[in-house]
Amino acid sequence: MFNLAAKPFDYLIVGAGFAGAVLAERLAAGSGKRVLLVDRRPHIGGNAYDYYNDAGILVHRYGPHIFHTNAERIWKYLSRFTTWRPYEHRVLANINSKLLPIPINLTTINTLYKLNLSSEGMQVFLAQRAEEPETIRTAKDVVLAAVGRDLYEKFFEGYTRKQWGVDPSKLDKSVTARIPTRTNTDDRYFGDTYQAMPKCGYTRLFENMLDHPNIKVMVNTDYREIVKSFRHDRLIYTGPVDEFFDYRFGRLPYRSLSFRHVTLDRPQFQPTAVVNYPSTDVPYTRITEYKYLTGQTHDQTSISYETPCDEGDPYYPVPNPENAVLYKKYETLAAKTPGVWFAGRLATYRYYNMDQVVAQSLALYSQLSELDGSLAQDERTKQSIVA
Ligand SMILES: Cc1cc2nc3c(=O)[nH]c(=O)nc-3n(C[C@H](O)[C@H](O)[C@H](O)COP(=O)(O)OP(=O)(O)OC[C@H]3O[C@@H](n4cnc5c(N)ncnc54)[C@H](O)[C@@H]3O)c2cc1C
Repeated sequence: MFNLAAKPFDYLIVGAGFAGAVLAERLAAGSGKRVLLVDRRPHIGGNAYDYYNDAGILVHRYGPHIFHTNAERIWKYLSRFTTWRPYEHRVLANINSKLLPIPINLTTINTLYKLNLSSEGMQVFLAQRAEEPETIRTAKDVVLAAVGRDLYEKFFEGYTRKQWGVDPSKLDKSVTARIPTRTNTDDRYFGDTYQAMPKCGYTRLFENMLDHPNIKVMVNTDYREIVKSFRHDRLIYTGPVDEFFDYRFGRLPYRSLSFRHVTLDRPQFQPTAVVNYPSTDVPYTRITEYKYLTGQTHDQTSISYETPCDEGDPYYPVPNPENAVLYKKYETLAAKTPGVWFAGRLATYRYYNMDQVVAQSLALYSQLSELDGSLAQDERTKQSIVA
Protein backbone atom coordinates (compact mmCIF):
# COMPACT_ATOMS: atom_id res chain seq x y z
CA MET A 1 0.00 0.00 0.00
CA PHE A 2 1.18 3.49 -0.81
CA ASN A 3 1.72 5.90 2.03
CA LEU A 4 0.81 9.09 0.16
CA ALA A 5 2.28 11.39 2.76
CA ALA A 6 5.62 9.57 3.11
CA LYS A 7 7.59 10.53 0.01
CA PRO A 8 7.04 12.84 -2.92
CA PHE A 9 6.13 11.21 -6.20
CA ASP A 10 8.72 11.27 -8.93
CA TYR A 11 6.01 11.85 -11.51
CA LEU A 12 2.49 13.17 -11.57
CA ILE A 13 0.92 11.94 -14.84
CA VAL A 14 -2.28 13.59 -16.04
CA GLY A 15 -4.52 11.29 -18.10
CA ALA A 16 -4.85 7.49 -17.91
CA GLY A 17 -5.23 6.86 -21.67
CA PHE A 18 -2.56 5.10 -23.72
CA ALA A 19 -0.07 7.99 -23.37
CA GLY A 20 -0.34 8.29 -19.58
CA ALA A 21 -0.58 4.55 -18.91
CA VAL A 22 2.44 3.59 -21.04
CA LEU A 23 4.55 6.28 -19.38
CA ALA A 24 3.37 5.25 -15.90
CA GLU A 25 4.14 1.60 -16.62
CA ARG A 26 7.59 2.29 -18.05
CA LEU A 27 8.64 4.77 -15.39
CA ALA A 28 7.47 2.47 -12.58
CA ALA A 29 8.48 -0.93 -13.93
CA GLY A 30 11.41 0.19 -16.05
CA SER A 31 12.98 2.85 -13.83
CA GLY A 32 11.59 2.24 -10.34
CA LYS A 33 9.92 5.66 -10.23
CA ARG A 34 6.95 6.45 -8.00
CA VAL A 35 4.06 7.59 -10.14
CA LEU A 36 0.72 9.22 -9.36
CA LEU A 37 -1.60 8.80 -12.37
CA VAL A 38 -4.82 10.87 -12.36
CA ASP A 39 -7.78 11.05 -14.72
CA ARG A 40 -10.83 13.22 -14.44
CA ARG A 41 -13.01 10.57 -16.02
CA PRO A 42 -14.37 7.85 -13.72
CA HIS A 43 -12.19 5.17 -15.35
CA ILE A 44 -8.78 4.36 -16.79
CA GLY A 45 -8.17 3.67 -20.51
CA GLY A 46 -8.95 7.13 -21.93
CA ASN A 47 -10.84 6.89 -25.20
CA ALA A 48 -10.04 3.19 -25.51
CA TYR A 49 -12.10 2.36 -22.38
CA ASP A 50 -14.49 -0.59 -22.74
CA TYR A 51 -16.96 -2.11 -20.27
CA TYR A 52 -19.72 -4.71 -19.94
CA ASN A 53 -23.07 -2.95 -20.23
CA ASP A 54 -26.27 -3.89 -18.34
CA ALA A 55 -26.97 -6.69 -20.83
CA GLY A 56 -23.48 -8.12 -20.24
CA ILE A 57 -22.15 -7.12 -23.67
CA LEU A 58 -18.63 -5.66 -23.96
CA VAL A 59 -18.85 -2.24 -25.64
CA HIS A 60 -16.48 0.66 -26.29
CA ARG A 61 -17.82 3.76 -24.59
CA TYR A 62 -16.08 6.16 -26.96
CA GLY A 63 -16.61 4.35 -30.24
CA PRO A 64 -14.91 1.40 -31.93
CA HIS A 65 -11.19 1.00 -31.27
CA ILE A 66 -9.38 -1.46 -33.50
CA PHE A 67 -5.73 -2.12 -32.82
CA HIS A 68 -3.49 -2.14 -35.90
CA THR A 69 0.19 -1.46 -36.40
CA ASN A 70 3.18 -2.24 -38.58
CA ALA A 71 5.58 -1.77 -35.68
CA GLU A 72 6.67 -5.09 -34.23
CA ARG A 73 8.14 -3.29 -31.22
CA ILE A 74 4.78 -1.77 -30.27
CA TRP A 75 3.00 -5.07 -30.82
CA LYS A 76 5.49 -6.89 -28.59
CA TYR A 77 5.34 -4.25 -25.91
CA LEU A 78 1.53 -4.35 -25.64
CA SER A 79 1.57 -8.15 -25.81
CA ARG A 80 3.08 -8.09 -22.32
CA PHE A 81 -0.30 -6.96 -21.02
CA THR A 82 -2.79 -8.87 -23.14
CA THR A 83 -3.31 -11.83 -25.38
CA TRP A 84 -5.04 -11.04 -28.65
CA ARG A 85 -8.07 -12.01 -30.63
CA PRO A 86 -7.20 -12.01 -34.36
CA TYR A 87 -9.51 -9.51 -36.01
CA GLU A 88 -9.51 -7.82 -39.41
CA HIS A 89 -11.76 -4.80 -39.58
CA ARG A 90 -14.26 -4.42 -42.42
CA VAL A 91 -16.52 -1.46 -43.08
CA LEU A 92 -19.46 -1.01 -45.43
CA ALA A 93 -20.87 2.31 -46.59
CA ASN A 94 -24.60 2.81 -46.99
CA ILE A 95 -24.98 4.50 -50.40
CA ASN A 96 -28.65 4.96 -51.32
CA SER A 97 -29.48 1.90 -49.17
CA LYS A 98 -26.84 -0.28 -50.88
CA LEU A 99 -24.05 -1.55 -48.61
CA LEU A 100 -20.69 -1.23 -50.37
CA PRO A 101 -17.10 -1.88 -49.20
CA ILE A 102 -15.09 1.13 -48.03
CA PRO A 103 -12.16 1.75 -48.66
CA ILE A 104 -13.29 1.71 -52.27
CA ASN A 105 -12.21 -1.51 -54.00
CA LEU A 106 -13.04 -3.52 -57.11
CA THR A 107 -16.25 -4.87 -55.54
CA THR A 108 -17.37 -1.33 -54.67
CA ILE A 109 -17.01 -0.14 -58.25
CA ASN A 110 -18.49 -3.22 -59.91
CA THR A 111 -21.52 -3.30 -57.58
CA LEU A 112 -22.18 0.44 -57.62
CA TYR A 113 -21.98 0.86 -61.39
CA LYS A 114 -23.18 -2.66 -62.31
CA LEU A 115 -19.89 -3.43 -64.09
CA ASN A 116 -17.65 -6.44 -64.34
CA LEU A 117 -14.25 -4.76 -64.42
CA SER A 118 -10.92 -6.45 -63.79
CA SER A 119 -8.22 -4.74 -61.67
CA GLU A 120 -6.72 -3.23 -64.84
CA GLY A 121 -10.20 -2.15 -65.95
CA MET A 122 -10.74 -0.42 -62.63
CA GLN A 123 -7.46 1.46 -62.97
CA VAL A 124 -8.55 2.75 -66.38
CA PHE A 125 -12.03 3.56 -65.00
CA LEU A 126 -10.56 5.67 -62.18
CA ALA A 127 -7.95 7.31 -64.40
CA GLN A 128 -10.71 8.48 -66.75
CA ARG A 129 -12.59 10.09 -63.86
CA ALA A 130 -9.76 11.39 -61.68
CA GLU A 131 -9.43 15.17 -61.56
CA GLU A 132 -5.98 16.66 -61.26
CA PRO A 133 -6.05 19.84 -59.16
CA GLU A 134 -3.03 22.16 -59.58
CA THR A 135 -1.76 21.24 -56.15
CA ILE A 136 -3.03 18.60 -53.77
CA ARG A 137 -3.50 20.60 -50.59
CA THR A 138 -6.88 19.72 -49.14
CA ALA A 139 -8.88 16.63 -48.18
CA LYS A 140 -11.06 17.25 -51.23
CA ASP A 141 -8.08 17.47 -53.65
CA VAL A 142 -6.76 14.09 -52.50
CA VAL A 143 -10.01 12.26 -53.23
CA LEU A 144 -10.78 14.03 -56.52
CA ALA A 145 -7.30 13.16 -57.74
CA ALA A 146 -7.72 9.50 -56.76
CA VAL A 147 -11.30 8.60 -57.71
CA GLY A 148 -13.03 11.59 -59.33
CA ARG A 149 -16.14 13.58 -58.50
CA ASP A 150 -18.95 11.00 -58.40
CA LEU A 151 -17.23 8.73 -55.89
CA TYR A 152 -16.07 11.79 -53.94
CA GLU A 153 -19.63 13.00 -53.62
CA LYS A 154 -21.08 9.60 -52.79
CA PHE A 155 -18.51 8.37 -50.25
CA PHE A 156 -16.55 11.34 -48.90
CA GLU A 157 -18.20 14.73 -49.20
CA GLY A 158 -21.12 14.26 -46.82
CA TYR A 159 -19.24 12.01 -44.43
CA THR A 160 -16.33 14.41 -44.09
CA ARG A 161 -18.66 17.41 -43.72
CA LYS A 162 -20.54 15.68 -40.93
CA GLN A 163 -17.36 14.41 -39.30
CA TRP A 164 -15.55 17.74 -39.24
CA GLY A 165 -18.32 20.32 -39.53
CA VAL A 166 -16.66 21.95 -42.55
CA ASP A 167 -16.32 21.26 -46.26
CA PRO A 168 -13.45 18.87 -47.18
CA SER A 169 -11.88 21.73 -49.17
CA LYS A 170 -11.18 23.46 -45.82
CA LEU A 171 -9.34 20.51 -44.32
CA ASP A 172 -5.77 19.37 -44.59
CA LYS A 173 -5.06 16.58 -47.08
CA SER A 174 -3.99 14.29 -44.21
CA VAL A 175 -7.67 13.72 -43.32
CA THR A 176 -8.47 11.69 -46.44
CA ALA A 177 -4.94 10.74 -47.55
CA ARG A 178 -4.95 7.88 -45.04
CA ILE A 179 -7.84 6.09 -46.82
CA PRO A 180 -6.55 3.88 -49.66
CA THR A 181 -8.26 2.95 -52.94
CA ARG A 182 -7.77 -0.68 -53.94
CA THR A 183 -8.06 -2.16 -57.40
CA ASN A 184 -8.40 -5.69 -55.99
CA THR A 185 -11.13 -7.20 -53.82
CA ASP A 186 -9.27 -6.75 -50.50
CA ASP A 187 -12.00 -5.34 -48.27
CA ARG A 188 -10.00 -4.98 -45.05
CA TYR A 189 -10.13 -1.49 -43.61
CA PHE A 190 -6.48 -1.58 -42.51
CA GLY A 191 -3.51 -3.09 -44.32
CA ASP A 192 -1.20 -3.33 -41.29
CA THR A 193 0.88 -6.39 -40.42
CA TYR A 194 -0.62 -6.65 -36.93
CA GLN A 195 -4.38 -6.31 -36.56
CA ALA A 196 -6.15 -7.63 -33.47
CA MET A 197 -8.30 -6.88 -30.46
CA PRO A 198 -7.17 -7.36 -26.85
CA LYS A 199 -8.73 -10.70 -25.95
CA CYS A 200 -10.28 -9.55 -22.66
CA GLY A 201 -10.77 -5.93 -23.75
CA TYR A 202 -8.82 -2.68 -23.48
CA THR A 203 -9.71 -1.93 -19.88
CA ARG A 204 -8.22 -5.25 -18.77
CA LEU A 205 -5.09 -4.42 -20.80
CA PHE A 206 -4.82 -1.10 -18.93
CA GLU A 207 -5.42 -2.79 -15.56
CA ASN A 208 -2.57 -5.19 -16.26
CA MET A 209 -0.33 -2.34 -17.36
CA LEU A 210 -0.96 -0.29 -14.23
CA ASP A 211 -0.77 -3.19 -11.78
CA HIS A 212 2.50 -2.15 -10.16
CA PRO A 213 3.25 -1.23 -6.55
CA ASN A 214 4.89 2.05 -7.63
CA ILE A 215 1.78 3.29 -9.45
CA LYS A 216 -1.05 4.99 -7.61
CA VAL A 217 -4.16 5.66 -9.74
CA MET A 218 -6.81 8.28 -8.96
CA VAL A 219 -9.86 8.58 -11.21
CA ASN A 220 -12.65 11.17 -10.99
CA THR A 221 -9.86 13.65 -10.30
CA ASP A 222 -8.90 16.72 -12.27
CA TYR A 223 -5.18 17.19 -11.72
CA ARG A 224 -5.77 20.81 -10.77
CA GLU A 225 -7.62 19.61 -7.66
CA ILE A 226 -4.60 17.72 -6.35
CA VAL A 227 -1.52 19.19 -8.02
CA LYS A 228 -0.63 21.26 -4.93
CA SER A 229 -1.44 18.47 -2.46
CA PHE A 230 0.94 15.80 -3.75
CA ARG A 231 4.56 16.71 -4.09
CA HIS A 232 6.13 15.52 -7.32
CA ASP A 233 9.34 16.21 -9.21
CA ARG A 234 7.97 16.16 -12.75
CA LEU A 235 4.63 16.41 -14.42
CA ILE A 236 3.54 14.63 -17.61
CA TYR A 237 0.42 16.08 -19.15
CA THR A 238 -1.69 14.22 -21.74
CA GLY A 239 -4.82 16.43 -21.76
CA PRO A 240 -5.57 19.27 -24.22
CA VAL A 241 -2.54 21.55 -24.47
CA ASP A 242 -4.59 24.77 -24.82
CA GLU A 243 -6.46 23.99 -21.60
CA PHE A 244 -3.17 23.49 -19.74
CA PHE A 245 -2.21 27.07 -20.58
CA ASP A 246 -5.70 28.45 -19.79
CA TYR A 247 -6.33 29.11 -23.50
CA ARG A 248 -3.75 31.91 -23.46
CA PHE A 249 -3.57 32.17 -27.25
CA GLY A 250 -7.20 31.14 -27.83
CA ARG A 251 -8.91 27.77 -28.09
CA LEU A 252 -7.58 25.09 -30.37
CA PRO A 253 -10.55 23.69 -32.29
CA TYR A 254 -11.47 20.08 -31.53
CA ARG A 255 -14.27 18.04 -32.99
CA SER A 256 -16.37 16.13 -30.50
CA LEU A 257 -18.68 13.12 -30.81
CA SER A 258 -21.89 12.03 -29.19
CA PHE A 259 -22.51 8.30 -28.80
CA ARG A 260 -25.96 6.75 -28.48
CA HIS A 261 -25.58 3.21 -27.21
CA VAL A 262 -28.51 0.86 -27.78
CA THR A 263 -29.04 -2.83 -26.97
CA LEU A 264 -31.40 -4.78 -29.21
CA ASP A 265 -33.33 -8.01 -28.57
CA ARG A 266 -31.85 -9.82 -31.52
CA PRO A 267 -28.50 -11.50 -31.99
CA GLN A 268 -27.36 -9.41 -34.99
CA PHE A 269 -28.15 -5.96 -36.41
CA GLN A 270 -25.92 -5.39 -39.45
CA PRO A 271 -23.60 -7.52 -41.63
CA THR A 272 -20.30 -6.07 -40.40
CA ALA A 273 -18.79 -4.28 -37.38
CA VAL A 274 -19.18 -0.79 -38.81
CA VAL A 275 -21.55 0.67 -41.39
CA ASN A 276 -20.82 4.24 -42.52
CA TYR A 277 -23.59 6.66 -43.45
CA PRO A 278 -22.10 9.31 -45.77
CA SER A 279 -25.46 10.91 -46.58
CA THR A 280 -26.25 14.21 -44.87
CA ASP A 281 -29.90 13.02 -44.63
CA VAL A 282 -29.00 11.30 -41.34
CA PRO A 283 -27.05 13.07 -38.58
CA TYR A 284 -24.84 10.15 -37.56
CA THR A 285 -21.73 9.06 -39.45
CA ARG A 286 -21.60 5.40 -38.52
CA ILE A 287 -23.17 2.56 -36.58
CA THR A 288 -20.95 0.07 -34.78
CA GLU A 289 -21.99 -3.41 -33.67
CA TYR A 290 -19.56 -4.43 -30.94
CA LYS A 291 -19.91 -8.22 -30.96
CA TYR A 292 -18.02 -8.32 -34.28
CA LEU A 293 -15.03 -6.67 -32.59
CA THR A 294 -15.03 -8.73 -29.42
CA GLY A 295 -16.22 -12.09 -30.77
CA GLN A 296 -18.69 -12.34 -27.91
CA THR A 297 -21.72 -14.62 -28.35
CA HIS A 298 -24.94 -13.31 -26.84
CA ASP A 299 -28.68 -13.48 -27.65
CA GLN A 300 -28.81 -9.69 -27.76
CA THR A 301 -26.58 -7.20 -29.56
CA SER A 302 -25.28 -3.72 -28.67
CA ILE A 303 -24.72 -0.98 -31.21
CA SER A 304 -23.76 2.69 -31.07
CA TYR A 305 -24.71 5.61 -33.27
CA GLU A 306 -21.91 8.15 -33.62
CA THR A 307 -22.82 11.78 -34.25
CA PRO A 308 -20.10 14.42 -34.58
CA CYS A 309 -20.59 17.77 -32.80
CA ASP A 310 -18.68 20.86 -31.71
CA GLU A 311 -19.43 20.78 -27.98
CA GLY A 312 -18.29 18.04 -25.63
CA ASP A 313 -15.11 16.09 -24.91
CA PRO A 314 -12.30 16.99 -27.31
CA TYR A 315 -11.70 14.02 -29.62
CA TYR A 316 -10.22 15.12 -32.90
CA PRO A 317 -7.75 17.99 -33.39
CA VAL A 318 -9.00 19.77 -36.55
CA PRO A 319 -6.12 19.74 -39.05
CA ASN A 320 -5.90 22.94 -41.10
CA PRO A 321 -3.20 25.61 -41.59
CA GLU A 322 -4.65 28.15 -39.11
CA ASN A 323 -4.85 25.59 -36.35
CA ALA A 324 -1.31 24.44 -37.09
CA VAL A 325 -0.10 28.03 -36.55
CA LEU A 326 -2.04 28.34 -33.29
CA TYR A 327 -0.74 24.98 -32.06
CA LYS A 328 2.82 26.04 -32.84
CA LYS A 329 2.46 28.84 -30.27
CA TYR A 330 1.38 26.36 -27.61
CA GLU A 331 4.11 23.94 -28.63
CA THR A 332 6.75 26.64 -28.18
CA LEU A 333 5.34 27.57 -24.79
CA ALA A 334 5.24 23.88 -23.78
CA ALA A 335 8.91 23.49 -24.68
CA LYS A 336 9.76 26.39 -22.38
CA THR A 337 7.71 25.17 -19.42
CA PRO A 338 10.16 23.66 -16.93
CA GLY A 339 9.39 20.34 -15.28
CA VAL A 340 6.38 19.58 -17.51
CA TRP A 341 6.29 17.13 -20.42
CA PHE A 342 3.53 16.84 -22.99
CA ALA A 343 2.47 13.58 -24.67
CA GLY A 344 -0.51 11.99 -26.42
CA ARG A 345 -3.10 12.97 -28.94
CA LEU A 346 -4.47 16.06 -27.25
CA ALA A 347 -1.31 17.44 -25.69
CA THR A 348 0.50 17.37 -29.02
CA TYR A 349 -2.63 18.21 -31.08
CA ARG A 350 -2.17 15.36 -33.52
CA TYR A 351 -4.46 12.80 -35.08
CA TYR A 352 -2.66 9.75 -33.71
CA ASN A 353 -3.78 6.14 -33.64
CA MET A 354 -3.20 4.09 -30.52
CA ASP A 355 0.02 2.52 -31.79
CA GLN A 356 1.43 5.96 -32.63
CA VAL A 357 0.61 7.24 -29.15
CA VAL A 358 2.33 4.20 -27.64
CA ALA A 359 5.38 4.84 -29.85
CA GLN A 360 5.46 8.52 -28.88
CA SER A 361 5.22 7.64 -25.18
CA LEU A 362 7.98 5.03 -25.38
CA ALA A 363 10.18 7.62 -27.10
CA LEU A 364 9.48 10.14 -24.33
CA TYR A 365 10.28 7.48 -21.74
CA SER A 366 13.68 6.89 -23.37
CA GLN A 367 14.40 10.60 -23.34
CA LEU A 368 13.38 10.94 -19.71
CA SER A 369 15.58 7.99 -18.74
CA GLU A 370 18.55 9.57 -20.48
CA LEU A 371 17.82 12.82 -18.77
CA ASP A 372 18.17 11.25 -15.35
CA GLY A 373 21.78 10.68 -16.26
CA SER A 374 22.37 14.24 -17.47
CA LEU A 375 20.09 16.72 -15.78
CA ALA A 376 22.05 19.68 -17.13
CA GLN A 377 20.70 18.87 -20.57
CA ASP A 378 17.12 18.83 -19.32
CA GLU A 379 15.70 21.69 -21.32
CA ARG A 380 17.74 21.02 -24.47
CA THR A 381 16.59 17.41 -24.64
CA LYS A 382 13.03 18.41 -23.89
CA GLN A 383 12.93 20.82 -26.76
CA SER A 384 14.09 18.16 -29.18
CA ILE A 385 11.23 15.88 -28.04
CA VAL A 386 8.54 18.53 -28.32
CA ALA A 387 9.85 19.50 -31.75
C1 LIG B 1 -14.10 7.64 -31.95
C2 LIG B 1 -12.64 7.28 -31.96
C3 LIG B 1 -12.26 6.09 -32.56
C4 LIG B 1 -10.93 5.73 -32.60
N1 LIG B 1 -10.59 4.55 -33.17
C5 LIG B 1 -9.31 4.16 -33.20
C6 LIG B 1 -8.95 2.91 -33.77
O1 LIG B 1 -9.80 2.15 -34.26
N2 LIG B 1 -7.64 2.55 -33.76
C7 LIG B 1 -6.67 3.37 -33.23
O2 LIG B 1 -5.49 2.99 -33.24
N3 LIG B 1 -6.98 4.56 -32.68
C8 LIG B 1 -8.28 4.97 -32.65
N4 LIG B 1 -8.61 6.18 -32.06
C9 LIG B 1 -7.55 7.00 -31.48
C10 LIG B 1 -7.27 6.62 -30.02
O3 LIG B 1 -8.43 6.86 -29.27
C11 LIG B 1 -6.12 7.47 -29.52
O4 LIG B 1 -4.96 7.29 -30.29
C12 LIG B 1 -5.73 7.20 -28.07
O5 LIG B 1 -6.83 6.92 -27.26
C13 LIG B 1 -5.01 8.41 -27.55
O6 LIG B 1 -4.56 8.19 -26.25
P1 LIG B 1 -4.16 9.43 -25.36
O7 LIG B 1 -3.66 8.89 -24.07
O8 LIG B 1 -3.30 10.36 -26.12
O9 LIG B 1 -5.53 10.25 -25.15
P2 LIG B 1 -6.88 9.89 -24.40
O10 LIG B 1 -7.24 8.47 -24.59
O11 LIG B 1 -7.86 10.93 -24.82
O12 LIG B 1 -6.53 10.10 -22.87
C14 LIG B 1 -6.33 11.39 -22.30
C15 LIG B 1 -6.92 11.35 -20.90
O13 LIG B 1 -6.56 12.56 -20.23
C16 LIG B 1 -7.60 12.87 -19.33
N5 LIG B 1 -7.49 14.27 -18.93
C17 LIG B 1 -7.53 15.37 -19.75
N6 LIG B 1 -7.41 16.49 -19.01
C18 LIG B 1 -7.32 16.10 -17.70
C19 LIG B 1 -7.19 16.81 -16.46
N7 LIG B 1 -7.17 18.17 -16.41
N8 LIG B 1 -7.11 16.10 -15.31
C20 LIG B 1 -7.17 14.72 -15.34
N9 LIG B 1 -7.30 14.01 -16.48
C21 LIG B 1 -7.37 14.69 -17.65
C22 LIG B 1 -8.86 12.56 -20.14
O14 LIG B 1 -9.97 12.35 -19.29
C23 LIG B 1 -8.46 11.31 -20.92
O15 LIG B 1 -8.91 10.12 -20.28
C24 LIG B 1 -9.95 6.58 -32.04
C25 LIG B 1 -10.33 7.79 -31.45
C26 LIG B 1 -11.66 8.15 -31.41
C27 LIG B 1 -12.06 9.44 -30.79
